[in-house]
Amino acid sequence: MNIRLKKLGFFSVVVILLLILQSGCMYNQNEIKRDLFALNTIINITVYGNKTTEKVLDEAIGRLYEIENRMSATISGSDVELININAGKIPVKVHDDTFFVVQKALEYSEITDGAFDISIYPLVKLWDIGSYTRKVPSEEEITKTLELVDYKKIKLDVDERTVYLEKEGMAIDLGGIAKGYAIDEVKGILKRGGIKHGIIYMGGDISVIGSKPDSTHWRIGIQDPRYDNEGTRYFAVVEKSDRSIVTSGDYERYMEVDGVRYHHIFHPHTGYPVDSNLMSLTVVAQTSIDADALSTALFVLGVDDGLNVIEELNEIDIVAVTKDKKVYFSKRLENKINIVKDDYEKRLFE
Ligand code: ADP
Ligand code: MG
Repeated sequence: MNIRLKKLGFFSVVVILLLILQSGCMYNQNEIKRDLFALNTIINITVYGNKTTEKVLDEAIGRLYEIENRMSATISGSDVELININAGKIPVKVHDDTFFVVQKALEYSEITDGAFDISIYPLVKLWDIGSYTRKVPSEEEITKTLELVDYKKIKLDVDERTVYLEKEGMAIDLGGIAKGYAIDEVKGILKRGGIKHGIIYMGGDISVIGSKPDSTHWRIGIQDPRYDNEGTRYFAVVEKSDRSIVTSGDYERYMEVDGVRYHHIFHPHTGYPVDSNLMSLTVVAQTSIDADALSTALFVLGVDDGLNVIEELNEIDIVAVTKDKKVYFSKRLENKINIVKDDYEKRLFE
């Protein structure tokens, strides 16, 4: 995963959670919170539980670090680092976690016609968005780097559990999907540990466990993609229980050069930051791995092509915000979403 810190822009996270805190304890359950930094992002976990809950939380957090140590592209000895340094040389045996995520990533590449492509890493490094150099690469550099981007050259051996990048110089980056996997894993541990209500927040990716303790839906804010640290941070609120909500946008990590905004989601076919007329795209799904990969992929594809993709999938809803602040959302969300800022205009898909 691209582990470069989000630095100050870090706090301009995608989705803000609106917690309507319950006064005191409900059903003998206390609110228990954990805040940490892992997977290159700020993580807040809030659950409702009792004394044994602390142990369950410890287990969940241990799992997060385990996933990070396997999937970060920059942690020495991680599966991803080993896959990358052995590109064009040998297949690398990886942990089941990594194998699963790479396998899933390739599935998303297939269904999105390559819009989602974890072999994007050479481009990510070339552009180095968010670094202080603020340099736009030359056409020549981009064309040359694009030769290394092709998910079809990622080869898996299911029996041997190996991943092989066919061309020297190729490299993978799980930054568009690993957080989603990590959230699902955390959620599984918490649920198996008896937790019935909670929220996992990971740098803009959110997943809620059950409903709020008072049995009403969680209220989850979607960040205003042009939030400038004043006023309300979100433009819409979605009411849902037991769902994952993930946003990808052009505002999380970006640089401006000569008045042009270059952000961190790349089109694997052009080599440039995507310009699909969207500022952000939010996916509401049953699992975070789906929501994470699809939010990145659909942001690349844009609304029309994105809709064709989700038609084929089960229970995936989206909220797309265009550059002129029109908010398109799936019909199923009609009674679940509230636009709370006047300059954003509600639209249904045709
Ligand atoms: P974030 O992780 O910042 O919340 P995303 O989930 O949308 O946002 O993932 C963006 C990250 O995914 C980028 O920082 C980069 O590492 C990687 N990435 C960029 N473009 C693509 C792409 N087309 N397909 C897959 N991964 C990508
Ligand atoms: Mg993503």
